[in-house]
Amino acid sequence: MCCELRVAWCGSLFACYLLLVTCNWCADCGMRGETLLTVRQRIIELLREGEMDARELSRAVSIREKEVCDHLRHIARSLAVKGNKLSIQPARCLSCDYVFKDRQRFTRPGRCPRCKKTHLQSPSYFID
Ligand SMILES: [Zn+2]
Repeated sequence: MCCELRVAWCGSLFACYLLLVTCNWCADCGMRGETLLTVRQRIIELLREGEMDARELSRAVSIREKEVCDHLRHIARSLAVKGNKLSIQPARCLSCDYVFKDRQRFTRPGRCPRCKKTHLQSPSYFID
């Protein structure tokens, strides 16, 4: 059952959710279903209620900030499939107001390309 489903769904945008529902394990990222599903659902619920950045999410669901970013990548894809969108308020430099508009990654940028300072406002996320 799991193997057939894995062949059928692996690499598809539905991989995470369908596999988790059927066999509680994600072929896409290899994580166990139980933790994964609850953490992701909690992140989705938090972002539906309001805008949050990775650090706030990491505190709210008790996982590391880097893991939050991994989850956000998956969440963005699965929301896209259902016609919803994970909106990103881009990171901004607090020294010169430079906005990291074109940045697609979910991790925090290290420093500002314009003034080279590291005093940055983290990107934040919400779901429409
Ligand atoms: Zn700057």
